[in-house]
Amino acid sequence: MISHDARGTRFYTFESFDPALVDHAFFTRLGGHSKGPYASLNLGGTNGDNPQDVLANHELLFEVFGRPYESRFDVWQVHGTHIRFGDQPRPREQKHQPADGIFTDNPEVTLVMRFADCVPIMFHDPIRGVVGIAHGGWQGTLHGIGAEAVRAAVMRYGCQPKDLRVGLGPSICGQCYKVGQDVFNQFTTKWGQAAEQFFSNQSGALYLDLWAANEWALRQAGIEMIEQSGICTATNLHEWYSYRFEKGFTGRFAAVIALKRG
Ligand SMILES: [Zn+2]
Repeated sequence: MISHDARGTRFYTFESFDPALVDHAFFTRLGGHSKGPYASLNLGGTNGDNPQDVLANHELLFEVFGRPYESRFDVWQVHGTHIRFGDQPRPREQKHQPADGIFTDNPEVTLVMRFADCVPIMFHDPIRGVVGIAHGGWQGTLHGIGAEAVRAAVMRYGCQPKDLRVGLGPSICGQCYKVGQDVFNQFTTKWGQAAEQFFSNQSGALYLDLWAANEWALRQAGIEMIEQSGICTATNLHEWYSYRFEKGFTGRFAAVIALKRG
């Protein structure tokens, strides 16, 4: 990934997304207004942080990103596989709808999702002019959020999976993400033997590699171009929030994407 510094914030972008066609960013926790465990660019509004700081963070992020705050479309992320289409921005007075994948083909819309360990899956189709983000924690991954997102883009916009550029953003890595036997059992029940390659055993504990599992599932769905960030949230707490390693007392960082206008 490429690192960028602007107005005290730091954000990262994928090398494989064409900056002439699409603006996108993963904002680190640096340069925001929040304090304590939320320090400092926390975009999560339901984790106990001061709402005024969160609003100031949103406004700063949109300023740095160079798009109006009113252009945003975001959802209430619930660890499912439902996909929503942001044909228009979400009005301030409208409540978040539940979903774990969002797409748009409208250059006036800025898609935003929030993360702290779960895998951000970003999509750009340079042929059809479509962008998307999906949220892949272990439950979303288990139930095929990546493939559901691809299917939705094909059905709604006529995207060809081979045209889609996909990037997996900063999230907890396979050496850090300890899981219970129940998670392993659910994966092998749903995915069969293929699931076993995504689990490893370290000193008697089970670890799940969400990066590899999501890449595998996306390739099964016909995706050919996949960039992995290789950035682990849990071991880079100076830049990222980690729900797991900060024991739930932490913020959420933002993944943002929009088609270039005109
Ligand atoms: Zn790690």
